[in-house]
Amino acid sequence: MERSFKKEAQSLKLGAGETFEGEGILAVTKALLQAGVSYVGGYQGAPVSHLLDVMVDAEDLLADLGVHVETCTNEASAAAMLGASINYPLRGAVTWKSVVGTNVAADALSNLASPGVVGGAMIIIGEDYGEGASVIQERSYAYAMKCSMWLLDPRPELTAIVRTVEQGFELSEASSTPVMLELRIRACHVTGAFTARDNRRGRYSGQQRIEGPPAGHDYGRLSHPPSTFAHERHKVEQRLPAAQAFIAQHKLNEVMPGEVDEIGIVVLGGLYNGVIRALSRLGLADLFGASRIPIYVLNAAYPLVPSEVQAFCAGKRAVLVIEEGYPDYVEQQINSELRRADIQTRVFGKGPLPRAGEYTSEALIGGLAGFLRETRPAGIDADAVAAEAAALVAHRPGALHALGDIPARPPNFCTGCPERPVFAAIKLAQRELGPTHISADIGCHSFATLPPFSLGNSILGYGMSLASAAAVGPNFARRPIAVMGDGGFWHNGLLSGVASSLFNQGDGVLIVMQNGYTSATGQQYLPTSRTTRAGTPTGMSIEKTLRSMGVSWLRTVRTYGVANMVKTLKEAMRSAERGLKVIIADGECMLARQRRLRAEEAERLKRGARVVRTRYGVDDEICTGDHSCIRLSGCPSLTVKPSPDPLRTDPVASVIESCVGCGLCGEVAHAAVLCPSFYRAEVVRNANRWERALHRWRGAVIAWLGGRAEAVS
Ligand code: SF4
Ligand code: SF4
Repeated sequence: MERSFKKEAQSLKLGAGETFEGEGILAVTKALLQAGVSYVGGYQGAPVSHLLDVMVDAEDLLADLGVHVETCTNEASAAAMLGASINYPLRGAVTWKSVVGTNVAADALSNLASPGVVGGAMIIIGEDYGEGASVIQERSYAYAMKCSMWLLDPRPELTAIVRTVEQGFELSEASSTPVMLELRIRACHVTGAFTARDNRRGRYSGQQRIEGPPAGHDYGRLSHPPSTFAHERHKVEQRLPAAQAFIAQHKLNEVMPGEVDEIGIVVLGGLYNGVIRALSRLGLADLFGASRIPIYVLNAAYPLVPSEVQAFCAGKRAVLVIEEGYPDYVEQQINSELRRADIQTRVFGKGPLPRAGEYTSEALIGGLAGFLRETRPAGIDADAVAAEAAALVAHRPGALHALGDIPARPPNFCTGCPERPVFAAIKLAQRELGPTHISADIGCHSFATLPPFSLGNSILGYGMSLASAAAVGPNFARRPIAVMGDGGFWHNGLLSGVASSLFNQGDGVLIVMQNGYTSATGQQYLPTSRTTRAGTPTGMSIEKTLRSMGVSWLRTVRTYGVANMVKTLKEAMRSAERGLKVIIADGECMLARQRRLRAEEAERLKRGARVVRTRYGVDDEICTGDHSCIRLSGCPSLTVKPSPDPLRTDPVASVIESCVGCGLCGEVAHAAVLCPSFYRAEVVRNANRWERALHRWRGAVIAWLGGRAEAVS
């Protein structure tokens, strides 16, 4: 894994009264253990990848407690795991990135929510919404509403987060309903402290197993008609009121008092810190949360509790509902609840606040100032607040002007990434074949959709590239090329793409990037990693899997062999043989490889053993300065520097220190017949006697020829 949590995992052992310090995501794991879970699982994805990583690193502790950890192959299998809580008093939690992961899990979630649960079931979703997000901008709220699952959105503070996790399981059991716990990126990484409680063993677990299913077959536990009709009624008539009663009785939501009580703010828990920060910048709150305007914090975002909403709003002229994104689910519900109760409080929300996009500090400051200008409560000078809001952002135009035009710097593959050469090869092949449709996918390889490659015409979801080319191929002059990673292949691509293409006799090209990990989410293991997380071989192979399914045109090509990759691509595109053609582009994730090699080399150097590092360089005198190599490679270690030749004004290409010697520069220069300016050098540490003698001899010859020998390390 990208990051080891072995050290942090020790804090999961803390007992009652001890102080836990750390990140929000680690606090959630501790809360799960305090709540007595019997199983945990999930599928990695920002911002909750580390939750699963922590669980994997804490596997020994979890085994002591009898907690089963499952690293699922996709979110659907993670959601289906929660089926253990339908019949049995087993508490369990799974995690994934939302909204995309929730989309994948949707079928299992509906089938889980319909019969409901006996044991507490929790889905910890990383709500990837806002400016740092890497996925489509939708919210998970709709899923909670449509399935009648409860959505918890705790205030980003460790005590509040831990309390919400623990109470979430109780809420789930009290209302026989799975709950979703939503964590935005800031909640995952907020740091703080809370007073720990002892970890609890689940009533049943790997340490104390259930003897068998409940006596008497209960058809009502199956999401099948006619049970489903009863489930629907049960959701509305029993579970919803039970949940609302629990939320109210256990005060999951919080009311922060304020003296200007003719108005109020209703905020989803996850946005609370941003609101307090904005209020404090406007002089309306201190940094410890004391606000002049009363705030109703919805740690339980769904369902709302009508009596609480009415109690907070009654007697107020207006409230501002702070809820990112659209539709304005909470605002609409509050409007309905108030009108139903004949309470005439005006409800503001979208209007002063933007209808789309993250509620950054700037958006909140503007929204709060706009709300105050509209409502003009006694005791607050709304014009002065508006002036302050304007002053806080007044520096922006000047700052933008001072910065001038900053060149765009799109995200890019890591130095030496094994996926980069494949796109260089596609570019080279297309020079001869002409452009074709490229179905891109989710993963590091999607960087190729950006300059300098700009290869990719659509992205339809994780592992969906081949499926998304199904209707392109029959309507296109050239075979489409679908690209997916090995992560995407196991997540969804194998069935949705490969099986479907074979079944429908599709005629396209699929490139599977076999780099050995789900690299983009932090280098987690997958079914064809070299080993499992326990260090044993996985025994699975993409090649064997494809052959067993009937793929007959299949080539495995080392990614760095650009010329060979170009040749294979041309062959796949031109082959008279109809049917799916698969190229397995094989090359270990360079980030993972470098992490491994660095540790191995450090150990060898410590022993005084010989270590060789390969580097590439550009001969300044040969480089023509046309930079085709940079456009074809895009490696961050390949850049430009001023030409040492005073007669040439164009900068020359240059390889900088971070080069990992993957060899792509030379390969591309060779395959594209560029200038022969690249050279390969080996930096030898702890050189042997023969190498030292050879170096001295070479130095002497160069000196004799008039050059200067460089010192050997
Ligand atoms: S993490 Fe690995 S696969 Fe992803 S860009 Fe970096 S080297 Fe390439
Ligand atoms: S050899 Fe070239 S492409 Fe490979 S890491 Fe070095 S500069 Fe980058």
